[in-house]
Amino acid sequence: MSDRFDCDVLVVGLGPVGDALAALAHVHGLSVIAIDRSPTLFPLPRAAVFDHEIMRIFQMIGVAERIAPLCRVPESYQFLTARGEVLLDFPVLPVGRFGWAETYALHQPGVEQVLRDRLGELGVRLDLGVAFEGLVQDSDGVTVDVRDEAGARQIRARYVIGCDGSWSPVREALGIKLDDYKFDEPWLVLDTIIEDCADLPVLCQQICDPRRPVTHLAMSGKRFRWEFMLKPGETPEQMLDDAMIQELLAPWKCGDRVQIERKAVYRFHALVAEQWRHGRVLLAGDAAHQMPPFAGQGMCSGIRDAANLAWKIAAIVRGEAAESILDSYQQEREPHVRAIIATAVAMGQIVCMLDEHGAAARDRDMLARKASGAQDVSVAYPDLVSGHLTDTPFAGALFPQPVAADGTHLDTLFGLDAVLIRRSSGDDAPSQVRTLDLASPELADFSEPLEQWFEAAGTEAVLIRPDRHIFGTGDPAELQALWREKDRSGVQRDQALT
Ligand SMILES: Cc1cc2nc3c(=O)[nH]c(=O)nc-3n(C[C@H](O)[C@H](O)[C@H](O)COP(=O)(O)OP(=O)(O)OC[C@H]3O[C@@H](n4cnc5c(N)ncnc54)[C@H](O)[C@@H]3O)c2cc1C
Repeated sequence: MSDRFDCDVLVVGLGPVGDALAALAHVHGLSVIAIDRSPTLFPLPRAAVFDHEIMRIFQMIGVAERIAPLCRVPESYQFLTARGEVLLDFPVLPVGRFGWAETYALHQPGVEQVLRDRLGELGVRLDLGVAFEGLVQDSDGVTVDVRDEAGARQIRARYVIGCDGSWSPVREALGIKLDDYKFDEPWLVLDTIIEDCADLPVLCQQICDPRRPVTHLAMSGKRFRWEFMLKPGETPEQMLDDAMIQELLAPWKCGDRVQIERKAVYRFHALVAEQWRHGRVLLAGDAAHQMPPFAGQGMCSGIRDAANLAWKIAAIVRGEAAESILDSYQQEREPHVRAIIATAVAMGQIVCMLDEHGAAARDRDMLARKASGAQDVSVAYPDLVSGHLTDTPFAGALFPQPVAADGTHLDTLFGLDAVLIRRSSGDDAPSQVRTLDLASPELADFSEPLEQWFEAAGTEAVLIRPDRHIFGTGDPAELQALWREKDRSGVQRDQALT
C-alpha cells in the first residue's frame, strides 16, 4: 500500500454488513479502517433469521463455530390461516447441501458482538464514535471527511464502502436515488424474553388473519418476537400502550411471563439504489437495498454484498484484476436482490391482507393449490445470472459444501482462494488458480459427494470463485485461461492507458 493512503478500504458503518465486510476484506489481505458514528453496538435486535449462505460467509471469517451455538434452527417457516390451516410450509433442513442448516434464528446483537470481537482479534482498525461527513474522489482514491469528539479530520482510502444503513449518508453524498416498490406498511415489533417458554411453538409463523396479521418467531434461547400489523386508523402510540400489548399477546397466554426487551413501530420498505458503485465508492447492505421482512433476507442480502465485494477489491489491489471487475458487483447482486424483494413482497401481500372476503378467497385458493401439490411462493433464489462468470453450465450457482464425517467443511481446504477441481489429473501449466484433482488425498473425505456432483454435472472440471460461486465448468485448461483472461483483460487496458 502506498504511504499516501491510510488504508485500502474504508468501511463506513459497522452494522452486521460493515462488520462482515471489514472482516472479509481483512482476511483477503486488505488493510481496512472501519468507522461508525456510534461508539457502541446497536443493542436491539432487528434481523430474526439468516440462511446457510450467511453461515458459510461467517465460516470464511472464522466465526461460524462461535455463532452456531447462539442460534436456533427452527423446524419450519409457516404461513397459517386465521383458523390455523397451513397455507405455505417451508421445512428447514438441519444440514443442507451447502454445509449448514438452511435457516438460523438469531439474536442480532449477540451475533454482531461475535463479529466485532473477531475484528478486534484480527487487528482491524475500528474508529468508533467517528461520523462520515463527506467525500471527494480522484483517479487514485477517495478522501473522506470524518468527525469525532476531537474534531474534523480526513481519511484517505483506495476504496470506500458505504455500509451505513437505510439513511446512508454515503449514498446521499453521491446523490444516488432509490427505486421504490411502493410496498410499505407499519408494524409493531415486540422483542421479548420468556423464562418459562416450553409451551410456545419453536417455529417461524405468519398468521394471515385479516383481523390482525401477526408474525411469531422463536428466536434464539428464550427470546421470542411478535410483530403485529397496524390497521388503518391505528396510531403507534395506541399500539405501544401496555394494555394493548397484553391484548395482542393474549392468544399466546404468556402475557404474565413476558419481559419486553424492545417495542417499536416501524414501517418496512422495498427500495433499491439505482447505482451501487460510483467510481471507487460502493454501497452495500441497507444502503443499497431494503426489503420487507417476510423473507428474512435484508441482512442476508447485505452480507452477500460483502462477500461479493471483498475478493474483487483484493484482486484489484494485488494487481490481479482490473478495476472494471467492480462493474460486475451490481450486475451480479442487483438481480439477486430484486428476486428476493419480489418474493418478500409476494409473501407480504399474502400476509398483509385486511379484507375479510379477499382473505377468505386467498385461503380457499391457496389451500386448493397446496392440496394439488403446488407451492404459491418459492424461496429458491436465483443463481448469479451475469457478471464475472463464464457462459458455461452451472456458472453463477453456489458450489455445494459437503461436510466430512469428522465435521470438516469442504471450504476449509480451499482457504480464500479461487480453486479448480479436476476430475482427472492433466498438464500442470503455471496457473494463478489452485488446482485439486478429485482423486487427490486432500479431497478423500469428500470424494463421494464430489464425485456425485461431477457425475450429475457431466463436466471435467469446475472453477470456484473465492465467494464459492461457480465461475465455470468444462475443460480445466480453458477454465484457467478464461479466469486469467477475465481477470486480466481490463488490467492490460488500464496499463495501456497509463
Ligand atoms: C423488524 C425487522 C426485521 C428484520 N428481519 C430480518 C431477518 O429476519 N433477516 C434478515 O436478514 N434481515 C432482517 N431485517 C433487516 C436487517 O435488520 C437489516 O437489513 C440489517 O440490519 C442492515 O444492516 P446494515 O449493516 O446494512 O445496516 P445497519 O445495521 O443499519 O448499520 C448501519 C451502520 O451505519 C452507521 N452509520 C450511519 N450513518 C453513519 C455516519 N454518518 N458515519 C458513520 N457511521 C454511520 C450506523 O451507526 C450503523 O451502525 C429486519 C429488519 C427489521 C427492521
